[in-house]
Amino acid sequence: MSEHKVIACPVCGLPLLASGKNWRCDNGHSYDEARQGYLNLLVAQHKKSKAPGDTMDMVDARQRLLDSQLYRPISDSLNQWILDWAMNKEAQPDNPLQIADVGCGEGYYTQRLQQMLEDYQQPHNLYGADISKDAVKRAAKRSPAIDWLVATGG
Ligand SMILES: [Zn+2]
Repeated sequence: MSEHKVIACPVCGLPLLASGKNWRCDNGHSYDEARQGYLNLLVAQHKKSKAPGDTMDMVDARQRLLDSQLYRPISDSLNQWILDWAMNKEAQPDNPLQIADVGCGEGYYTQRLQQMLEDYQQPHNLYGADISKDAVKRAAKRSPAIDWLVATGG
């Protein structure tokens, strides 16, 4: 993870700043990146169960389906729509596009979006967030160029 990130502390809402693999806000709330390459921002009071969201079995099933490319036309349409939007923004490396895929699941659409933005040389910070830790673990394997977050969208 690098500069120009806009991740808010899930407890107090202040910006989180990275120092190596540790992220903290000015109020001292602190979050460590997992070795698999994601940041867990789910705090206890937001969880309704110990492991909210999709289980690994559900993640596996969805990943098999998506990797069959059955839904690729949806991904392509989505990417085209975002590209049209991005081209109008004229993003620069010091003022990149900030895009969050909230409910990213195992990251199929997010990874294809990141690849498209890279192909078209659109400076970007892309965040993939999901409440399921198992899903985000899988997603983090798809691309290290995306900031993967276990988090709620709110
Ligand atoms: Zn905080």
